[in-house]
Amino acid sequence: MKSNKQFAVIGLGRFGTSVASALYNLGYEVLAIDADEERIQKFSEEVTHVVQADTTDENSLKALGIRNFDVVVVAIGEDIQANVLTTLLLKDLGVKYIVAKARNELHGKMLAKIGADRVVYPERDMGQRVAHNLVSTNVLEYIELSPVLSIVEITAPKALVGKSLAETNLRAKYEVNVVAIKRDEELIVPPLPDEKIKPGDILIFVGHTKGIQKLEELE
Ligand code: ATP
Repeated sequence: MKSNKQFAVIGLGRFGTSVASALYNLGYEVLAIDADEERIQKFSEEVTHVVQADTTDENSLKALGIRNFDVVVVAIGEDIQANVLTTLLLKDLGVKYIVAKARNELHGKMLAKIGADRVVYPERDMGQRVAHNLVSTNVLEYIELSPVLSIVEITAPKALVGKSLAETNLRAKYEVNVVAIKRDEELIVPPLPDEKIKPGDILIFVGHTKGIQKLEELE
């Protein structure tokens, strides 16, 4: 067991099952909760414990001892009312850290208002990543930190190969910083200004979304 951090995941749709399995495979204790008996049975071998419960019922949540979990993930998808009500009850019961899945911006705002510690938008985020990857084949990973700030992982474009970071002048041209270079098995963090970019290097940038977009267009 990696640490004694305990996780609970509510809602075993595609997202919930993926989060729960990943945490379990990383060595953590995971309780999976769903209202649907069939889903619970199917998933019973994949995590530490499974429980059938309706999490919009305060007494069921109390009976599960949900307060004792370090992190509770609300992965109920379609039923926004159940998703919001569950989050609200978890907050009321004093759960330390609540992660809630939102379907859209308004839903996300509501979840943040009622006290979700972290709101996630899996469909939106994955859509953005796929789009950035389609626009530029160099883009390996894209994460939006805020509407104006992103992190991106790009295979070094030919236009930059052979130059040192100082020579590329990326900060002035694109308002981005190279925070790390992946070269084979090596990770260079932080790379120094005289570090020369080699073919096949993977550059990890953080910076202004607009600048990153221009950078993605480099061949
Ligand atoms: P995904 O895209 O991740 O598959 P989804 O939008 O399809 O998500 P749903 O299937 O709507 O997600 O919800 C996920 C699970 O949440 C379902 O298995 C459903 O039974 C469960 N669920 C819905 N309401 C409740 C509730 N009140 N208490 C417990 N589980 C619930």
